[in-house]
Amino acid sequence: MAVERIGVHESTAIDFPFEVFADEFADLDPALVPIRDDPGAGADPASCDAFVTFTHQPQLLDADPEWIHTTLAGVEAFPLDEYESRDVVLTNSTGLHGDSVGDTALGLMLLLARRLHDFVANQQQHRWAFPDWDEGFTLPGERVCVVGLGTVGSAVAKRCSALEMDVAGVQRSDDSVAGVDEQFHPDDLSAAIADARFVVLCVPLTDATERLLGAAAFETMRDDAYLVNVARGEVVDQDALVDALRDETIAGAALDVFEEEPLPEDSPLWDFDDVVVTPHAAVANRDFYLDVADLVRENLQRLEAGEEPDNRVV
Ligand code: NAD
Repeated sequence: MAVERIGVHESTAIDFPFEVFADEFADLDPALVPIRDDPGAGADPASCDAFVTFTHQPQLLDADPEWIHTTLAGVEAFPLDEYESRDVVLTNSTGLHGDSVGDTALGLMLLLARRLHDFVANQQQHRWAFPDWDEGFTLPGERVCVVGLGTVGSAVAKRCSALEMDVAGVQRSDDSVAGVDEQFHPDDLSAAIADARFVVLCVPLTDATERLLGAAAFETMRDDAYLVNVARGEVVDQDALVDALRDETIAGAALDVFEEEPLPEDSPLWDFDDVVVTPHAAVANRDFYLDVADLVRENLQRLEAGEEPDNRVV
């Protein structure tokens, strides 16, 4: 495969500016050009043989490229059959989000355990208030169940283990994962989440994981447990979650992802004291562009040499 022009779709601006990304390719042959939704504003997609994008863009597929790379790890919104039938290679960015999402998940657990969200809310009102004596707790010794032990899940497990938490993990294989004290098969999800103070979702959205956590799971969880979702909103039955929070079936949640994004202004999830909402930004990291650039360069070389690219989805 010969790649002469790589179009960088404007949806990648959520992760990095075009210019800083293009700078990383200054010494390489293929030119990087910006692709904008306004056809007059950027380069013509038809002049490119490959694209880097955040979201699936039908007009990029229509330009009949050889290869499309997405800066996302989860590709559930990409019509994979179409990529297949048009013979377009699709690669994703799995493997790059461990540190950023791992740090965020750990931060959210610390925030909830140490009541830091209360302090921030109080500060906004210039209020000097101490938590109730029995509200705050510490992470060492607490049990966490990490559901999905790929790049993100294993990074979460490693961090929890470093903080001396008791780490349970749910994965399909029996392979041991660093930092995980007890492993469960997805069929045993109920047993895995039953004793956990935190349940952290790190699975991709698939037919098997859609609404993995619903009313029955929340009933199974401890009433002082917190859900942390850094995976995809649809992995949780969001109405059942709202009910579980209202009924105090669980204690709270930290949610980076939602069934509908942006989270609608009238969603009840904004208003629970013990729910922390972040805007699908667990991955936000100023150095992310360097990791994506490394992966794209590596795959460019592989594809030009007729080899299999890393992170090939289609
Ligand atoms: P990954 O492919 O490295 O890991 C996913 C893991 O989940 C794999 O080990 C897979 O075997 C496992 N898995 C799949 N189905 C499962 C099931 N039913 N039960 C248990 N395990 C199952 O992907 P990743 O980089 O770790 O990302 C995981 C997901 O997290 C992505 O698909 C994406 O949806 C989400 N994500 C969110 C953000 C964010 O900004 N919030 C960032 C990166 C990734």
